[in-house]
Amino acid sequence: MTVSNKLKKVSDHHTSIVSEKTNPADSKELAEKVINFLTEKKIIKKELFDCVLGSNGHQPAENFASILEKPNVGFLDLRTNGVEVITERKVFENGGNGLEQVNCPKCGQNQIEEDWGTALGNWYEKLDSDLIKCSNCLSESSITEFNFEPNWAFGDFGLVFWNWGIFKSEFFIELEKLIGTELKIVYGKV
Ligand SMILES: [Zn+2]
Repeated sequence: MTVSNKLKKVSDHHTSIVSEKTNPADSKELAEKVINFLTEKKIIKKELFDCVLGSNGHQPAENFASILEKPNVGFLDLRTNGVEVITERKVFENGGNGLEQVNCPKCGQNQIEEDWGTALGNWYEKLDSDLIKCSNCLSESSITEFNFEPNWAFGDFGLVFWNWGIFKSEFFIELEKLIGTELKIVYGKV
Protein backbone atom coordinates (compact mmCIF):
# COMPACT_ATOMS: atom_id res chain seq x y z
CA MET A 1 0.00 0.00 0.00
CA THR A 2 1.34 3.43 -0.88
CA VAL A 3 1.46 6.33 1.55
CA SER A 4 -1.15 8.27 -0.39
CA ASN A 5 -3.60 5.37 -0.03
CA LYS A 6 -3.06 5.25 3.71
CA LEU A 7 -3.71 8.96 4.03
CA LYS A 8 -6.72 8.97 1.74
CA LYS A 9 -9.37 11.11 3.34
CA VAL A 10 -12.73 9.52 4.05
CA SER A 11 -15.34 11.89 2.65
CA ASP A 12 -18.21 13.32 4.69
CA HIS A 13 -21.70 12.27 3.68
CA HIS A 14 -24.85 14.26 4.27
CA THR A 15 -28.56 13.57 4.06
CA SER A 16 -30.75 16.62 3.52
CA ILE A 17 -34.43 16.46 4.39
CA VAL A 18 -36.09 19.37 2.63
CA SER A 19 -39.51 20.95 2.46
CA GLU A 20 -39.90 22.81 -0.84
CA LYS A 21 -43.36 24.03 0.08
CA THR A 22 -43.13 25.86 3.38
CA ASN A 23 -43.62 29.60 3.55
CA PRO A 24 -40.24 31.34 4.15
CA ALA A 25 -41.88 33.48 6.84
CA ASP A 26 -42.62 30.31 8.84
CA SER A 27 -39.11 28.83 8.68
CA LYS A 28 -37.88 30.00 12.10
CA GLU A 29 -41.01 28.81 13.89
CA LEU A 30 -40.87 25.49 12.06
CA ALA A 31 -37.20 25.08 13.03
CA GLU A 32 -38.12 25.51 16.68
CA LYS A 33 -40.89 22.93 16.38
CA VAL A 34 -38.63 20.36 14.71
CA ILE A 35 -35.73 20.96 17.11
CA ASN A 36 -38.10 20.55 20.08
CA PHE A 37 -39.42 17.31 18.60
CA LEU A 38 -35.93 15.90 18.04
CA THR A 39 -34.58 16.98 21.42
CA GLU A 40 -37.58 15.60 23.32
CA LYS A 41 -36.96 12.23 21.67
CA LYS A 42 -33.27 12.61 22.58
CA ILE A 43 -32.18 12.28 18.96
CA ILE A 44 -30.21 15.54 18.99
CA LYS A 45 -28.91 17.88 21.68
CA LYS A 46 -30.49 21.29 22.03
CA GLU A 47 -27.36 23.46 22.18
CA LEU A 48 -25.37 24.40 19.10
CA PHE A 49 -21.87 23.06 18.58
CA ASP A 50 -19.16 23.03 15.91
CA CYS A 51 -20.17 19.63 14.49
CA VAL A 52 -21.26 20.33 10.89
CA LEU A 53 -19.26 21.69 7.97
CA GLY A 54 -19.20 25.47 7.69
CA SER A 55 -21.68 26.26 10.46
CA ASN A 56 -22.96 25.12 13.87
CA GLY A 57 -25.35 22.27 14.43
CA HIS A 58 -26.88 19.91 16.94
CA GLN A 59 -24.89 16.89 18.11
CA PRO A 60 -26.49 13.44 18.30
CA ALA A 61 -28.06 12.55 21.66
CA GLU A 62 -28.48 9.13 23.29
CA ASN A 63 -31.40 7.90 21.15
CA PHE A 64 -29.84 8.87 17.81
CA ALA A 65 -29.89 5.27 16.55
CA SER A 66 -33.69 5.03 16.93
CA ILE A 67 -34.19 6.83 13.59
CA LEU A 68 -31.55 4.82 11.74
CA GLU A 69 -31.77 1.60 9.76
CA LYS A 70 -27.99 1.36 9.87
CA PRO A 71 -25.78 3.84 11.74
CA ASN A 72 -22.50 4.92 10.16
CA VAL A 73 -19.54 2.97 11.62
CA GLY A 74 -17.73 5.00 14.30
CA PHE A 75 -20.36 7.72 13.99
CA LEU A 76 -20.12 9.14 17.52
CA ASP A 77 -16.34 9.58 17.23
CA LEU A 78 -16.57 11.63 14.06
CA ARG A 79 -15.91 15.34 14.27
CA THR A 80 -18.66 16.05 11.77
CA ASN A 81 -21.78 14.27 13.04
CA GLY A 82 -24.30 17.02 13.70
CA VAL A 83 -27.58 18.24 12.28
CA GLU A 84 -27.77 21.65 10.65
CA VAL A 85 -31.16 23.33 10.52
CA ILE A 86 -31.58 25.50 7.41
CA THR A 87 -34.13 28.33 7.58
CA GLU A 88 -33.11 30.30 4.51
CA ARG A 89 -33.39 29.73 0.78
CA LYS A 90 -30.94 27.06 -0.28
CA VAL A 91 -30.03 24.81 -3.17
CA PHE A 92 -29.75 21.41 -1.51
CA GLU A 93 -27.39 19.74 -3.95
CA ASN A 94 -25.69 16.39 -3.70
CA GLY A 95 -22.06 17.52 -4.04
CA GLY A 96 -19.63 14.82 -5.09
CA ASN A 97 -22.41 12.36 -5.89
CA GLY A 98 -22.77 14.08 -9.26
CA LEU A 99 -25.68 14.95 -11.48
CA GLU A 100 -26.94 12.84 -14.37
CA GLN A 101 -30.22 14.38 -15.49
CA VAL A 102 -32.19 17.61 -15.26
CA ASN A 103 -35.57 16.57 -16.62
CA CYS A 104 -38.33 18.85 -17.89
CA PRO A 105 -41.38 18.68 -15.58
CA LYS A 106 -43.73 18.78 -18.61
CA CYS A 107 -42.28 16.28 -21.11
CA GLY A 108 -39.58 14.57 -19.06
CA GLN A 109 -36.75 15.21 -21.49
CA ASN A 110 -33.26 15.65 -20.08
CA GLN A 111 -32.18 19.31 -20.33
CA ILE A 112 -28.82 19.02 -18.60
CA GLU A 113 -27.08 20.54 -21.64
CA GLU A 114 -29.08 23.77 -21.28
CA ASP A 115 -27.95 26.71 -19.14
CA TRP A 116 -30.02 25.75 -16.11
CA GLY A 117 -27.26 26.95 -13.73
CA THR A 118 -28.04 30.60 -14.49
CA ALA A 119 -31.76 30.08 -13.82
CA LEU A 120 -30.92 28.35 -10.56
CA GLY A 121 -28.62 31.23 -9.58
CA ASN A 122 -31.45 33.66 -10.36
CA TRP A 123 -33.84 31.68 -8.17
CA TYR A 124 -31.35 31.67 -5.31
CA GLU A 125 -30.56 35.39 -5.57
CA LYS A 126 -34.23 36.28 -6.26
CA LEU A 127 -32.83 38.63 -8.90
CA ASP A 128 -34.03 37.56 -12.31
CA SER A 129 -36.18 34.95 -13.99
CA ASP A 130 -35.74 31.37 -12.84
CA LEU A 131 -37.59 30.05 -15.89
CA ILE A 132 -36.02 27.60 -18.33
CA LYS A 133 -37.48 26.88 -21.74
CA CYS A 134 -37.42 23.20 -22.61
CA SER A 135 -35.72 22.58 -25.98
CA ASN A 136 -38.08 19.65 -26.65
CA CYS A 137 -41.62 20.76 -25.72
CA LEU A 138 -40.85 24.51 -25.62
CA SER A 139 -42.72 25.01 -22.34
CA GLU A 140 -41.25 27.29 -19.69
CA SER A 141 -40.90 26.12 -16.09
CA SER A 142 -39.04 27.29 -13.03
CA ILE A 143 -35.76 25.43 -12.69
CA THR A 144 -36.94 24.37 -9.22
CA GLU A 145 -39.71 22.31 -10.89
CA PHE A 146 -37.29 20.27 -12.98
CA ASN A 147 -36.58 16.75 -11.77
CA PHE A 148 -32.94 16.34 -10.91
CA GLU A 149 -31.39 12.86 -10.92
CA PRO A 150 -30.04 12.07 -8.41
CA ASN A 151 -32.37 14.22 -6.31
CA TRP A 152 -31.68 17.86 -5.60
CA ALA A 153 -34.11 20.08 -3.67
CA PHE A 154 -34.85 23.80 -3.48
CA GLY A 155 -36.50 25.48 -0.55
CA ASP A 156 -36.40 27.60 2.56
CA PHE A 157 -36.47 24.86 5.16
CA GLY A 158 -34.39 21.74 5.61
CA LEU A 159 -32.37 19.56 7.94
CA VAL A 160 -28.91 18.38 6.99
CA PHE A 161 -27.71 15.27 8.85
CA TRP A 162 -23.94 14.80 8.61
CA ASN A 163 -22.58 11.24 8.42
CA TRP A 164 -25.48 9.61 10.29
CA GLY A 165 -25.92 6.55 8.05
CA ILE A 166 -29.07 5.04 6.56
CA PHE A 167 -32.38 6.37 7.88
CA LYS A 168 -35.57 4.48 8.60
CA SER A 169 -38.28 5.53 6.15
CA GLU A 170 -40.68 5.87 9.11
CA PHE A 171 -38.58 8.79 10.30
CA PHE A 172 -39.20 10.69 7.06
CA ILE A 173 -42.95 9.97 7.34
CA GLU A 174 -42.99 11.18 10.94
CA LEU A 175 -41.27 14.41 9.89
CA GLU A 176 -43.70 14.94 7.02
CA LYS A 177 -46.56 14.80 9.52
CA LEU A 178 -44.80 17.22 11.83
CA ILE A 179 -43.82 19.71 9.11
CA GLY A 180 -47.07 19.31 7.19
CA THR A 181 -45.66 19.09 3.66
CA GLU A 182 -44.02 16.50 1.45
CA LEU A 183 -40.29 16.21 1.99
CA LYS A 184 -37.51 15.58 -0.48
CA ILE A 185 -34.45 13.60 0.50
CA VAL A 186 -31.08 14.51 -0.98
CA TYR A 187 -28.06 12.24 -0.51
CA GLY A 188 -24.77 14.05 -0.89
CA LYS A 189 -21.10 13.90 -0.08
CA VAL A 190 -18.21 16.35 -0.01
ZN1 LIG B 1 -40.19 19.63 -22.03
